[in-house]
Amino acid sequence: MAIRPIRLFGDPVLRQKSVPVVDFDKELRTLVQDLTDTMIDANGGGIAAPQIGVGLRVFTYILEGEVGHVVNPRVEVIGEEEQTGQEGCLSIPGLPFDCRRHLRVVASGFTMYGEPLRVEGNGRLSVIIEHENDHLDGILFVDRLDLQNRQAAEAAIREAEWSGGIVPEIRLSPHAPLRAGRA
Ligand SMILES: [Zn+2]
Repeated sequence: MAIRPIRLFGDPVLRQKSVPVVDFDKELRTLVQDLTDTMIDANGGGIAAPQIGVGLRVFTYILEGEVGHVVNPRVEVIGEEEQTGQEGCLSIPGLPFDCRRHLRVVASGFTMYGEPLRVEGNGRLSVIIEHENDHLDGILFVDRLDLQNRQAAEAAIREAEWSGGIVPEIRLSPHAPLRAGRA
């Protein structure tokens, strides 16, 4: 069991695009285990590899006690329904804001053993999948807030002890949209 330090907003690694996993080896299994341990220890719903400083396309999630992970995910939207709810990020600790997401998505990818995997998200799990998948492209949930919430986030981050009074750049939506259908 290894709990790794979580990188905070402002750390450049959170803005980098992660690269696909090529080797499904012991190192990858250690990464998935470390992500899972770190996520559970921090009481998060999900965590992506860049959040512990690893630029690989891997994330883990936990919902109602069920732990999962996806390697090299490809996320597609199902239907057109959306949802808005409070969302937070382990890299922006203690600062939840209302964020709009798709209601249903599906993540296709691989397990840490290289077996094909498909995770369907509905509601909360859809939010987690979208949030963690964004991390792999260097996108943070604060980038997706509406103007009012984004301004509130900037003010709250400036006041947060961990930020040292500095607000890293929030990048405005729209980002590359998820592809709809076919899932
Ligand atoms: Zn996050």
